[in-house]
Amino acid sequence: MKPLAAACLLSALAGCAATGPAATSARPAIDGQAKNIIFFLGDGMGINTLTAARIYAVGEEGELTIDTLPESAFVKTFSNDAQVTDSAASMSAYMTGVKQNNGVISMSTETRAIAPTMDGKRTVSRCATGGNTSGRAVPTLAELAKARGMAAGVVTTTSVTDATPAATYAHACHRKLEEDIAAALVPGGAGYNAALGKDGLDLVFGGGAQQFTSADAGGKRADGRNLLGELQGKGWRVASNTAQLQALAPNAQPVIGLFAQNHFAYEAARDPAKQPALSEMTAKAIDILANNPNGFFLMVEGGLIDHGLHATLAKRALQETVSYNAALKTALDKMNKIDPGLKNTLIVATADHDHTLLINGYSPRTGKTTPTHPGILGLVRSLPDGKVRLDKDGAPFTILGFGTGENRIQGSRKDVKLTDEITAGDDYHQEAVVRTKAGSETHGGADVYLGAAGVNAELFRGTIDNTRVFDLIKKAAGL
Ligand SMILES: [Zn+2]
Repeated sequence: MKPLAAACLLSALAGCAATGPAATSARPAIDGQAKNIIFFLGDGMGINTLTAARIYAVGEEGELTIDTLPESAFVKTFSNDAQVTDSAASMSAYMTGVKQNNGVISMSTETRAIAPTMDGKRTVSRCATGGNTSGRAVPTLAELAKARGMAAGVVTTTSVTDATPAATYAHACHRKLEEDIAAALVPGGAGYNAALGKDGLDLVFGGGAQQFTSADAGGKRADGRNLLGELQGKGWRVASNTAQLQALAPNAQPVIGLFAQNHFAYEAARDPAKQPALSEMTAKAIDILANNPNGFFLMVEGGLIDHGLHATLAKRALQETVSYNAALKTALDKMNKIDPGLKNTLIVATADHDHTLLINGYSPRTGKTTPTHPGILGLVRSLPDGKVRLDKDGAPFTILGFGTGENRIQGSRKDVKLTDEITAGDDYHQEAVVRTKAGSETHGGADVYLGAAGVNAELFRGTIDNTRVFDLIKKAAGL
């Protein structure tokens, strides 16, 4: 590998203009190496969420696409400073192979996450304060891919400046520096991450338009910049609704599609004319990136799984997981057409961390959820008679629950009147063991599942650290 981004002070966003990669070199497909890499990340998609999504969508005996991946591993996700990671530290570990502190975006291990302050409407970085001077940017898979002449793209259902996508293309001491993170995408502009090479990423699809437009124009930028205008000025195509996404030609590169001011709406509430499905964005991204003769690196994030779980809206989280799974199926189908048998393509699908979702026993098998059948969203029932099971207070309870969350019954549950109709509702918050603020269910600390398919997929096995995933992808692709 090339020595990218050697030493960058934290005062800047650490784009490392002086130490960016040299000229890119063309790279033909090498036998036995992955020319194309697709990394799927289900944000917060722990094992219980995967199992529950399977039962929700296809029943206990069914299979999600992720269940069919031929190789698998368990991944340890603890961060440098925390037993339970956040998305910034875990995604950064996947993308750079370096353990990071919670909140840090693709920097060296010792970098401390220091939240920015607000000066009026301006977000002010404090990365260089508090003795935090030794941190430096560390190379990401997308940067390594770009340095090899590959194309690189990012697709997500959150803001493209949110922690997970940010860790692929930016470096920051704190995930809340979203204005700076957006600027890291604009080649030649102030704060550009030059480690992405002269031209930057090739494709960015997701939400977050507000981070690209000035406060005067309805956005969030206090510096008055219009980053979308700047990108357009450099020849980027810009899409802002589904029709515009679909109209993009395979050679429409570089391209940025921002389909929401901030994050997308949940899958079940999404306006399909305004916000494309994750699967549609994935398909278009492959159409465009696969045109590069040197191959490509694509990161696809199902970002709202995490949002549904933080809100203890299990149904939303399961629907988002199904949407992530559909995007994975789209990628497998498309790549198998372009590269039969995936001889030059590696697809990895995993999660950044767990949540506290739990599956209570011992209901009879429910089968999948339908409009008239709650499935796993329903109440726990008894075997063999199927009668609603009662807790010690004499009240019914749900199959799905949470360790932490906003809905905890105070005192005895004896007056709780739950029905399947209530608990299968779109906006039903499952009960939690410990009561937290609304929307503040916590991440969980369990290992996550990783599935892999294609060339060198067999490298992924056993129980591995999240930093090891970076090493294995690099090895698989010869980066
Ligand atoms: Zn989260």
